[in-house]
Amino acid sequence: MVSLQLGNRTVVITGAGQGQGAAEARLLAEAGARVIATDLAEVPPAGLAGLASSSSASLVYRQLDVSDASGWSNLAAWIQSEGWQVDGLVNNAGITQRSRLLDVSVADLQKVYEVNVAGSLLGIQSLSPLMGSGTSVVNVGSVAGLTAHYPVAYTASKWALRGLSQVAAMELGPHGIRVNTVHPGFIETPMTASAKPEFRQTTLAETPLGRTGSVEEVAAVVLFLLSPLSSFVTGAEIPVDGGQSAHGGAKSVSDALR
Ligand code: NAP
Repeated sequence: MVSLQLGNRTVVITGAGQGQGAAEARLLAEAGARVIATDLAEVPPAGLAGLASSSSASLVYRQLDVSDASGWSNLAAWIQSEGWQVDGLVNNAGITQRSRLLDVSVADLQKVYEVNVAGSLLGIQSLSPLMGSGTSVVNVGSVAGLTAHYPVAYTASKWALRGLSQVAAMELGPHGIRVNTVHPGFIETPMTASAKPEFRQTTLAETPLGRTGSVEEVAAVVLFLLSPLSSFVTGAEIPVDGGQSAHGGAKSVSDALR
């Protein structure tokens, strides 16, 4: 019997204090998972308010900077000391950096890579030894990683994450660990709240569904990829973008000739 329920499964989510990560934490807890929600803050951020203290939701909060290898080791040791294994890992934490090609510095690039690429690598290296057959990793990419999105450090980091995901799917497959990637389009979160109005308007014009996405719509795909319903899916990349990446730039031509 396959099901979207995650009862008796332990799932670690990074960057879970707000935005998509917090929505994933809420949905996975509702689906019955024991959620280990992690973020930079020492105490549970407002995005998890109520959940981390509620006795009905199985959610615990831990401070974790994903770019800190010792933080990951400590997390793995704590999970083992609790007698748990890890059934799911959502590498959601990410930062953006909006410099353009001729202005971006190597330091900018390194800063973004430390979180978006090295953070996910460290997560996989630290927790996959605690993961058995039938478990699942979900990496959070971006439409930026499928296109030439102009903030070059961010875009390059998300293309790099795709490479990491595909190698991980190949290397961990024999252990029964699946690795998949979701690529969100424009999702309403604190990250996109600071985007310029022109960015919002032009993205909407490139999006066949004609609207931005919600954090719950990304969380739903993450739940599917963590659940046994996707048991033969690994190395897959699923855009959650209202069709933005599917037309390869043809939409503006089609719209102009209507
Ligand atoms: P968000 O609202 O900025 O939330 C990201 C969370 O990650 C924040 O709580 C942030 O903490 C945390 N974080 C940052 N650096 C971290 C680190 N070193 N270690 C641990 N946590 C860290 O972002 P979001 O929009 O929900 O994005 C989530 C993921 O989706 C990211 O990987 C992003 O690249 C990707 N994505 C988002 C969109 C979109 O439209 N929103 C589109 C495509 C892809 P602080 O707030 O304390 O910094």
